[in-house]
Amino acid sequence: MIVSVASGKGGTGKTTIAVNLAMALSGENIQLLDCDVEEPNAHLFLNPSMHGEHTVSMEVPRIDEEKCTHCGKCQEICQFNAIGILPNVALTFQELCHGCGGCFMVCPEEAVMSGLRTIGTVEEGRKGPVDFVHGRLRVGEAMAPPLIKKVRQYAVPEKLSIVDAPPGTSCPVIAALRGSDYVILVTEPTPFGLNDLKLAVGAVRTLRIPMGIVINRCDVGDRKVQEYASRENIPVLLEVPFDRHVAESYARGEVLVDGFPRWKEMMLQLFREIRSRMHVP
Ligand code: SF4
Ligand code: SF4
Repeated sequence: MIVSVASGKGGTGKTTIAVNLAMALSGENIQLLDCDVEEPNAHLFLNPSMHGEHTVSMEVPRIDEEKCTHCGKCQEICQFNAIGILPNVALTFQELCHGCGGCFMVCPEEAVMSGLRTIGTVEEGRKGPVDFVHGRLRVGEAMAPPLIKKVRQYAVPEKLSIVDAPPGTSCPVIAALRGSDYVILVTEPTPFGLNDLKLAVGAVRTLRIPMGIVINRCDVGDRKVQEYASRENIPVLLEVPFDRHVAESYARGEVLVDGFPRWKEMMLQLFREIRSRMHVP
């Protein structure tokens, strides 16, 4: 079972929910996959012992000038301007390549060779019974989805996998959420929160994944998120009020279920709610 935690915007408490849900459920066979590869921070709260690091690369074209006739077919098919064919020289801009493979297929001279571009690393660790995996995108690298897919490959079917997705609704988020059994959308009761929640709901609906909403700092704004959820028939799974002691503990990078029994009960209740909605006994 894969439960992903997402939000339409950053700063809503998505990672807090993901980390604390994993720790509250640590009696289960559980793993936490941090797919926010541009800014992974779940490890700062979980504080796992790391034991493995793997470099991740993607296939990019390298043109063999000996074979190339400069026909321009590879440049034509590339939608990302990653190839420039001049009368006497073939240029590749590997940072722009999205790895679609089109140029490899259309070259009549078999002049497009396979090269590798390092995009980041995947690191493995463990905190007590929780298996932890996160990706780190190389600084300056724009292609997050292949690295996110790599992190997702660590999901073990026999385990409950909690995925901390990147914020927003762009390609990296889709890569993180695809194949999830349930998505928790974390939001806050403000106009910005509601606007970005609506975008996130649209993305999750496109993927046809069941979802529910967690409203963080539920007592600091208005009730428009609840009204929207009711109109759209999306369950509000949990409402978390603001608590200064919790905020201070969060700022110190602590796991909240360790210091606040109420948080442990909230996370267990959240999971029971998800299971019942998925008809899992
Ligand atoms: S693999 Fe696709 S994106 Fe990359 S250079 Fe070739 S055609 Fe362009
Ligand atoms: S398709 Fe092949 S032969 Fe034509 S320009 Fe590209 S690399 Fe050269």
